[in-house]
Amino acid sequence: GRGDVHAEVVVLGSGPGGYTAAFRAADLGKSVVLIEKDDSLGGVCLNVGCIPSKALLHMAKVITEAGEVAHHGLKFAKPEVDLAGLRGFKNEVVGKLTGGLGGLAKARKVKIVKGFGKFTGPNMIDVEGTSVSFDQCIIAAGSEPVTLPFIPHDDPRVIDSTGALELENVPGRMLVLGGGIIGLEMACVYDALGAKITVVELMDQIIPGADKDVVKPLMQRIKGRYENIFLKTRVTAVEAKDEGLTVTFEDDQGETFSDTFDKVLIAVGRRPNGKKIDADKAGVAVDERGFIGVDSQQRTGAKHIFAIGDVVGQPMLAHKAVHEGKVAAEVCAGENRHFDAKVIPSVAYTDPEVAWVGVTETQAKADGIKVEKGVFPWAASGRSLSLGRSEGMTKLLFDPQDQRVVGGGIVGPNAGDLIAEIALAIEMGADAVDLGHTIHPHPTLSETVNFAAEMFEGTITDLM
Ligand code: FAD
Repeated sequence: GRGDVHAEVVVLGSGPGGYTAAFRAADLGKSVVLIEKDDSLGGVCLNVGCIPSKALLHMAKVITEAGEVAHHGLKFAKPEVDLAGLRGFKNEVVGKLTGGLGGLAKARKVKIVKGFGKFTGPNMIDVEGTSVSFDQCIIAAGSEPVTLPFIPHDDPRVIDSTGALELENVPGRMLVLGGGIIGLEMACVYDALGAKITVVELMDQIIPGADKDVVKPLMQRIKGRYENIFLKTRVTAVEAKDEGLTVTFEDDQGETFSDTFDKVLIAVGRRPNGKKIDADKAGVAVDERGFIGVDSQQRTGAKHIFAIGDVVGQPMLAHKAVHEGKVAAEVCAGENRHFDAKVIPSVAYTDPEVAWVGVTETQAKADGIKVEKGVFPWAASGRSLSLGRSEGMTKLLFDPQDQRVVGGGIVGPNAGDLIAEIALAIEMGADAVDLGHTIHPHPTLSETVNFAAEMFEGTITDLM
């Protein structure tokens, strides 16, 4: 039957996956309803993820650079941090984007239904008392921070990424539990603001998805700035006391030790929201962890229901959600589209930035795939040195058979922007000669991609 509201396509969740899918479906002529539980559109990415973190990371970069240029003949006074002002800037950026989405939805006649949605049948969602019926549905319910059973999450001194972005205060000593992208980005912000940082990571390196050599310059830099970085170490207990949070650590030798912090940021990963939407009532299977399985057209087991973004699996990244959203919307509109990206780039917007795409050396070794590499150290890049930085590196991985680019890693300022060229090279099947013969503007950091290809070919002549 028909609900209180009906649309040809209903999208559940308004994050980057959901709003992209809703707008694309509307542009293709479908009537669209977008369901969102929060007051603001844009999901995690715009409200408490990608965007506010980048606004604060920019401010952090200004602070640390202002300090470092003192060595190059330019001295600033110690920066005066006005937390309310920083929060205001961050909120303004977020507000512009989320407010913009409202306008874009209106222009396309995408109807927003506010509230928490749950399936009540194969063609019906209940949104807190309002029934919304659909011909086709796109689930874009996203993910939330993982919590751990032995941690007093109710204590206000225990925060997740959302709490960290609120920037309530700058703690004296802060523990970042989890050395992945989100934890390290927040560590970078709080370090610049003056907190003493400790990072603890279970694996033998920070940012475990990236190659060790690509992560090394970041590791070197933060080693010099942070109080402690514990690798191969787990946290076994966090105890809330008046004087602080007492944390018990256990290293890989089984040795335990403890320390007390003013704040603990939990950044151990995100879990999908698939279990909360009664998907079974629509015949959509959700696995034990909360992920929804889909085919290459983003279709779930129920042929008229699609799923996209964080709720369908790794990597949990906004640009992946956006592309999946377009595929789902176009398939809804009758187009024969598939999600067939060869690669999805990953970026840690730390200082220096760490970015990688395609095959990594670690993964190639594990899978028994042969790769050859071209590496260009930024110490030989004129532009990098002009920035007062020399620790960066650009690495390209090639298939030894045909010299095509299969992967790459970049570390250094703006690595996140630079990695896009390597992603394009892989998608286009470019080889070392293609990258070596493409004229890059001088002096730019983008030249390091060109130089890495020339290093591999052995044709590099003049550095800087
Ligand atoms: P989400 O953005 O999670 O959106 C889901 C939406 O659905 C939410 O608005 C939620 O309220 C709503 N919803 C869920 N269930 C229901 C329901 N039943 N009823 C109604 N509404 C519902 N990714 C990057 O690519 N680059 C970055 O720099 C980056 N930085 C990040 C920084 C942080 C601190 C965090 C936490 C994440 C970051 N990410 C980043 C990850 C990125 O935010 C996610 O990959 C992205 O938001 C996923 O989009 P999505 O559309 O799948 O879902």
